[in-house]
Amino acid sequence: MASSNPFFDDIRTKTEVDPPQNEEATDVSELVNDPAPTALKPNGTVSSSVRELLECPVCLNAMYPPIHQCSNGHTICSGCKPRVHNRCPTCRHELGNIRCLALEKVAASLELPCKYQGFGCIGIYPYYSKLKHESQCAYRPYNCPYAGSECSVMGDIPYLVAHLKDDHKVDMHNGSTFNHRYVKSNPQEVENATWMLTVFSCFGQYFCLHFEAFQLGMAPVYIAFLRFMGDDNEAKNYSYSLEVGGNGRKMIWQGVPRSIRDSHRKVRDSFDGLIIQRNMALFFSGGDRKELKLRVTGRIWKEQ
Ligand SMILES: [Zn+2]
Ligand SMILES: [Zn+2]
Ligand SMILES: [Zn+2]
Ligand SMILES: [Zn+2]
Repeated sequence: MASSNPFFDDIRTKTEVDPPQNEEATDVSELVNDPAPTALKPNGTVSSSVRELLECPVCLNAMYPPIHQCSNGHTICSGCKPRVHNRCPTCRHELGNIRCLALEKVAASLELPCKYQGFGCIGIYPYYSKLKHESQCAYRPYNCPYAGSECSVMGDIPYLVAHLKDDHKVDMHNGSTFNHRYVKSNPQEVENATWMLTVFSCFGQYFCLHFEAFQLGMAPVYIAFLRFMGDDNEAKNYSYSLEVGGNGRKMIWQGVPRSIRDSHRKVRDSFDGLIIQRNMALFFSGGDRKELKLRVTGRIWKEQ
């Protein structure tokens, strides 16, 4: 992204999903000559020019009071102001401490579409409640459910499914029953980093089966749990069971998949899954206790 202010590139919000509409710093004189209507439309939405007026030229996010301006009238958000060393990023004049009350009032009068409009949200919200809606909007993108590394990829479900397959090389399976074998040659090394992810597709939905080793207090354990690739209210329509055993013994877990809105870590730390003590897991593995060989079978079904 070519920017007239490369210095500010690093402080732009990294989580911004929509590509910035306008790469240039907002210049009021341009807006005056803009033929597009700047008044409220009958349905309450406003033209993109007013939205651009409220876009911080540095972070490109919508500005909320206090909105600051330089002596030439260029505006900047309160989050970016301390980071530009008191220099207007547009004209390089000293910023001082001038509020832009007019723009703050304009902001208060606006109703704007949710920023996840591109993902399908049709909601329109008063300026000051828009942020709150967006933090809970059902169309907001999901974080990548892969647990093994810090992955910052976000997107809708079809995008994330393709991402898991292509970028994380995750095993994908069709069907609502599964029979999965986890093999690890050195079960004495129980580390938080040991984990596996498999994705199942059934009922037109996607589910993530997580399996990992972690330390439950002093006890090394394994946990297996299912996450639903969608929102919590939909996750509740499904149930799943997991079974693991050997040597004539068997453990069964029945649960409700958790939405991937809940982080992998949150689900694990709430023990919402099949927990197998390591000694038991080695007993199930048979043999000489030198290898972990667990067969986990399971089923997903839709509740009526
Ligand atoms: Zn800003
Ligand atoms: Zn300026
Ligand atoms: Zn929304
Ligand atoms: Zn990822």
